[in-house]
Amino acid sequence: MSASKPKIADDLAESERIILESVDRFLDRHVRPHVMRLEHGDIYPEEIVERMKELGLFGAIIPTEYGGLGLSATTYAKIIERISSVWMSISGIINSHLIMAHIVAKMGTEEQRREFLPRFATGELRGGLALTEPDCGTDLQAIRTTAVRNGDHYVVNGTKTWISNGIKGSCFALLVKTDPSAQPRHKGMSMFLAVKGEGFSVSRKLEKLGYKGIDSAELVFNDYRIPASRLIGGVEGHGMACAISGLELGRINVAARGVGIAQAALDEAVRYSQQRKTFGKPICEHQAIAMKLADMATRTAASRLLVRQAAEAFDRGERCDYEAGMAKLFATETAVENSLEAMRIHGGYGYSKEFPVERLYRDAPLLVIGEGTNEIQRIVIAKRLIERNRI
Ligand SMILES: Cc1cc2nc3c(=O)[nH]c(=O)nc-3n(C[C@H](O)[C@H](O)[C@H](O)COP(=O)(O)OP(=O)(O)OC[C@H]3O[C@@H](n4cnc5c(N)ncnc54)[C@H](O)[C@@H]3O)c2cc1C
Repeated sequence: MSASKPKIADDLAESERIILESVDRFLDRHVRPHVMRLEHGDIYPEEIVERMKELGLFGAIIPTEYGGLGLSATTYAKIIERISSVWMSISGIINSHLIMAHIVAKMGTEEQRREFLPRFATGELRGGLALTEPDCGTDLQAIRTTAVRNGDHYVVNGTKTWISNGIKGSCFALLVKTDPSAQPRHKGMSMFLAVKGEGFSVSRKLEKLGYKGIDSAELVFNDYRIPASRLIGGVEGHGMACAISGLELGRINVAARGVGIAQAALDEAVRYSQQRKTFGKPICEHQAIAMKLADMATRTAASRLLVRQAAEAFDRGERCDYEAGMAKLFATETAVENSLEAMRIHGGYGYSKEFPVERLYRDAPLLVIGEGTNEIQRIVIAKRLIERNRI
């Protein structure tokens, strides 16, 4: 028996290594050479998406019995870190899609799993998560989009905004109110799998500081009829539970993106500081720059460990909002700090569109906002801290 345990661990390590190497090859061949053109033209990366389908990335964490790769959150976080270190935008194309898939896998009925997960896994049906509305993001219980039962259908009316993959995607985990007068408010909330069709339209593409290439859009529901069979879990009132279960994985994703950005900023700074000379020596030999590099490297390594801790707790099936909150908070603040430090180290070139650090600097701030702002992460962490240490 004792000999079989290391064997399983070795097999897992080996399969993870093979997957990570194929992701690295894909990034080197199909992403890295095109980033500047796609980023500065704000062009949706159609060809890259096709390659991602071939690699199975749209099914990364979908269980194998439903056609996915069945990867752990730990391996998935490593993939997201790698992708984000090259171009964060393409991590967004799979992240919110896989949050939707995770919600179906965890909260959906068996019939919904069988109908949707195999199509999500191939990337044939792609999409994301539609929670935010023009009047609320953090306070999700204040949403106004409603779904009213009418026979074997619901009729949906309302507007969602900032929805990633909103234009190119065709299926969204949609948070609505099925009982707007319910108290507490979350008891009146439900989540549906909304596939684009009559009454479900994209009203506009939103222009952004960074996170170029991927489409962020406003979605409008105008008497959109959705079959009752698309109510996730088949029972009204579980919408907030669906959103929360999705956001736990989402926070690990975003934290992993933070590590990717932080590492990329560090790599750029380490390279440039050895090439650039002032006062007769490479700038990395000036103590002021060396201190920055040391802090950047330390923060990045600490972020990676926090992400691993959160992903491992998630993989063990534990409640991990404390660990995921810490990872998200620290790794995303690190991304912001490292991208600014990399820019300073590059001097004037850091401000140039010909170098990647200005992109890292524009992408990083999104991470402190998305999947629960960092103000909210601090509140969650503090709340759990007290709960776990009540006297
Ligand atoms: C590029 C991009 C992509 C996105 N993709 C998606 C997506 O795919 N799907 C989706 O549903 N949403 C998406 N969002 C929306 C995002 O999740 C929200 O912007 C975020 O949740 C914050 O909500 P808000 O913008 O309404 O800010 P608000 O909730 O109005 O918050 C404003 C400020 O107040 C603070 N605040 C609010 N409440 C409290 C409190 N109780 N205590 C302390 N501080 C508080 C916040 O931290 C923040 O600093 C995206 C946003 C962007 C910019």
